[in-house]
Amino acid sequence: MRAWVQEAFGGPGVRRLREVAAPAPGPDEVVVRVLAVALNRLDVLQRSETVVPGMSLPHIAGMDIVGEVVETGGEVDGAMVGVIGLVDPVVSCGQCRVCTDDTPTYCHDFATIGSTRDGGMAEYVAVPARNVLPVDADPDDSETLARMAAVPVAGATAWRGLLGAGRLEPDEVVVIPGAGSGLGAAGVQIALARGATVITLVSGESKRRRALDVGAHHVIDRTGTADWVEDVHRLTDGGADMVWDHVGGDFLGASLRATRPGGRVVLSGTTAGLDTRLHLPDLYQPGRSILGHGSYGRSDMAAAVAGFTTGGYAVHIDSVWTFERLDDAEARLESNDFFGKIVVLGPGLAPRGEDR
Ligand SMILES: [Zn+2]
Repeated sequence: MRAWVQEAFGGPGVRRLREVAAPAPGPDEVVVRVLAVALNRLDVLQRSETVVPGMSLPHIAGMDIVGEVVETGGEVDGAMVGVIGLVDPVVSCGQCRVCTDDTPTYCHDFATIGSTRDGGMAEYVAVPARNVLPVDADPDDSETLARMAAVPVAGATAWRGLLGAGRLEPDEVVVIPGAGSGLGAAGVQIALARGATVITLVSGESKRRRALDVGAHHVIDRTGTADWVEDVHRLTDGGADMVWDHVGGDFLGASLRATRPGGRVVLSGTTAGLDTRLHLPDLYQPGRSILGHGSYGRSDMAAAVAGFTTGGYAVHIDSVWTFERLDDAEARLESNDFFGKIVVLGPGLAPRGEDR
């Protein structure tokens, strides 16, 4: 089969499109023919260095997969052949205490498809049968396939952060940074569906307009303001109920100050840095809280997939690319000049409309 294989760490050239042996399913696995894969920031980070312990070379990236089951392992019902499904990238034993508590990333047998085991930047990928979430899609409809591939990681992460850890309520005001990222755009949809008032932060006029288009109540353009925290206080008469901070690093201190007394920050990511300094009176004097996101579980994934595939939540796609143009798709992700998810189709499939 054809696959994008990463053989070293570095720039785009470390990964080449070449022929490799197609995977065989383990007893509890299926082989999925890849129809579409959405890009995630981790794909780019892991091209340069080991980010997640357990990642090894040669490596095939691709965490957000939609595909068709073409082969089943010995313990799997053969009737699964032909099923179109999204793939939950989180692999765990499914039976131990942390798995039954739905915190699978703490399982002794934890792995991530596209990170610590081979992912979907290939013609075929082997995944546990229980990781396939069937959806209703035409395997020739590239537009629908792209929208579905955009859902798993961003959808489940946003669901976990806003509703699971954050317990966002309908009458609350939430601040969501980076509304142009796939994750931020998914979060805006979930918060709107919850009935909350959404303030987003973006950089640049075109993203400000897009964020308003997707339904945010208020959009703060960080390039056009001296202090976004002050802007949030002005818009909310004293601070937001919650900031969903999927950025981390030095952004966390500002997130904290943007909340009202008694407000909370849910920390769901560290793309801006693993460490920071906090001015502690900002935390204890107003009685604010910082909550950790935790890992998303099957329930978060199932709820997000339902919301975004049949529940009417909008999925925002930036662009759809042919399999051969993965480098161009990733360059667009690295440029930060995009809005929504960037999707690569499986081998042999072509985007509809705009040719990429
Ligand atoms: Zn387990």
